Amino acid sequence: MIGWFKIVISTLSLFCLMVFSMPSAIARDAAILDVRLWTAPDHTRVVFDLNKSVQYRVFPLSNPDRIVVDLFKSDLKVDRLKLPLPDPAITKVRYGKHEPSTSRFVFVTKEALTSESFLLNPSKDKPYRLVVDFKRKLKQQPKEKDVTVTKDVRGKKTIIIAIDAGHGGEDPGAIGRNGLKEKTVTLAVAKALENAVNGRAGMRAVLTRKGDYYVSLKGRVKRARDAHADMMISIHADAVKQRYVEGASVYTLSDRGATPDKVAAALAAKENAADEVGGAGPFAMDDPLLNMILGDMAKKDSLISAEILAKQVLKDLATVGPIKYEHPKKARFVVLGALEVPSVLVEVDFISNPNREKVLNNKRHQEKLAAALLSASENYLRRQGLLDSENRRADVEVDLGHETVKMEFPCANDCQRVSLLGKPVSLLP
Ligand SMILES: [Zn+2]
Repeated sequence: MIGWFKIVISTLSLFCLMVFSMPSAIARDAAILDVRLWTAPDHTRVVFDLNKSVQYRVFPLSNPDRIVVDLFKSDLKVDRLKLPLPDPAITKVRYGKHEPSTSRFVFVTKEALTSESFLLNPSKDKPYRLVVDFKRKLKQQPKEKDVTVTKDVRGKKTIIIAIDAGHGGEDPGAIGRNGLKEKTVTLAVAKALENAVNGRAGMRAVLTRKGDYYVSLKGRVKRARDAHADMMISIHADAVKQRYVEGASVYTLSDRGATPDKVAAALAAKENAADEVGGAGPFAMDDPLLNMILGDMAKKDSLISAEILAKQVLKDLATVGPIKYEHPKKARFVVLGALEVPSVLVEVDFISNPNREKVLNNKRHQEKLAAALLSASENYLRRQGLLDSENRRADVEVDLGHETVKMEFPCANDCQRVSLLGKPVSLLP
């Protein structure tokens, strides 16, 4: 018995010896499965998909300016890097083995940049990820127009509507059966709404994201607050297993004390998980005010206003498509957490329904959704006394560079798009 045991042990140790003396690349190295790049206005994000966690380092080099990313004990499993380069931060990327088991990526940058990096654990269908953000230095925006309206002399405040296109970048949101991504639909509707809002006198749209990149949920709230928005609409598209389910629904922030609505709570949990998928990272701001808002301090006024806005949105959306729930629902959505900004989250339809997916992908329908959202916003703003009910004339002061002139023009149609001396003029707050 003892002799047999010894043989087993020695066979085992021989086996162990064989396994562990094999090249580490076979036994232990992490596989780099994909490399992606997203360009945001203030940074460029590079994401490495990994089959397991890795040790890594990121450091800058100069002459020329570069940022090096070393992933220890790793192997690139991609034939060719297909990154959309050059972009505003990075001109090109080189890959090679630094030491036998270190994968080295050298990003040549347009100037000396700083970077932030962090690892993300698997979330939903995303594997381990290494995220490296290349922070751009923002230059002062060049003056776009020679002629600028400096102020609205009547002293009326321009109404600011914050428009939040859900998801983006790493986070596609829900995906339809034919491959349409929620992040694509939300951005298209948001941009159509931005156009519609900016075409109205005395109103201006502020987008929380303008392209295919991720913005943290609190980052979105902060943008709406920083813009002193009068209201905010967060745009999403819903998904369920049953392919026949269709229709829009509208949500507002609930008080902590309120009776939880199971459907709304499940949806909020799903939407609030976006930061994990999108990669908010450890640098996502922890604004004490925002945390307080999400505590018990939510202002009643703002919640009541949001409720009025939500009802109006449902009413107007009913004119362009099916409705899932006739009344607004409430839950604790992080993105609705701006204290002073009445905010609603709109699921414009179910992307999981192939028929609705097709409709959601249609530009004409996206514009109809935007028109309905604008109409609802205007009705709400009129009810709140923030928007005049009749057509008006705008008195503006125009800075021509060498002199300032006062002018008046009708706002019946499109005050934001008048032209002066052949040059477009826009009303600024
Ligand atoms: Zn969503």
